[in-house]
Amino acid sequence: MRRDSPLPSILREPQFVVSAHLPKQWVVDSVAEVAFAGRSNVGKSSAINAITQRRGLARTSKIPGRTQQIVFFRLRPGHYLVDLPGYGYARVPQALQEHWRHTIEAYLSTRSALKGLVLLMDARRPLTPLDNQMLTWSAAATLPTYVLLTKADKLGRGAMADTLRRVRNTVADYSADVVVHPFSAVQRAGVEEARAQIVLWLEQ
Ligand code: GDP
Repeated sequence: MRRDSPLPSILREPQFVVSAHLPKQWVVDSVAEVAFAGRSNVGKSSAINAITQRRGLARTSKIPGRTQQIVFFRLRPGHYLVDLPGYGYARVPQALQEHWRHTIEAYLSTRSALKGLVLLMDARRPLTPLDNQMLTWSAAATLPTYVLLTKADKLGRGAMADTLRRVRNTVADYSADVVVHPFSAVQRAGVEEARAQIVLWLEQ
């Protein structure tokens, strides 16, 4: 069995603070935060839980795409992990999709405490139109971005190598400040690397 390094102290006691529907509900004392984004069902909750070693910190919504809130978890005073609403669920009403678009664009473009974005894409179908929209916004905000190709356990080695090459080529067209790594919550692959980047962003 693989032995994990000890959890960095900043990630040890995440506390749910607020599930914000409107920008005025966003926490105001943040000096450094890292946000997670991805299409619904991409494995975002599983990734947050693996990275923080908390089984039930981020919860899967029963109805995908219905949870439109931005969830803030306090790590330390002034330091947060932020769970952005999952996107791309086809049956979400137009009005909710518009709400998502406005809220996320506003969040990414104005949030000065935001130090980095963890953008999750399904390794079997990365670079959906909304994934590309996220890359456009993060590049416009000059936001360092760490792409996780999730559910890597579902791809063979060769297919993963091809996918990595393709996604790395594409993201380079958006910004030089994007890296791409395979990730599997099930096999715990890429967890420590993602964690190390998140801690660097939070403590820089
Ligand atoms: P979210 O909607 O993005 O928060 O996604 P969840 O974390 O709830 O995961 C969605 C589904 O994908 C669930 O059925 C998970 O069990 C599954 N899943 C999540 N991570 C992995 C992974 O690394 N490998 C595999 N095979 N399945 C995963």
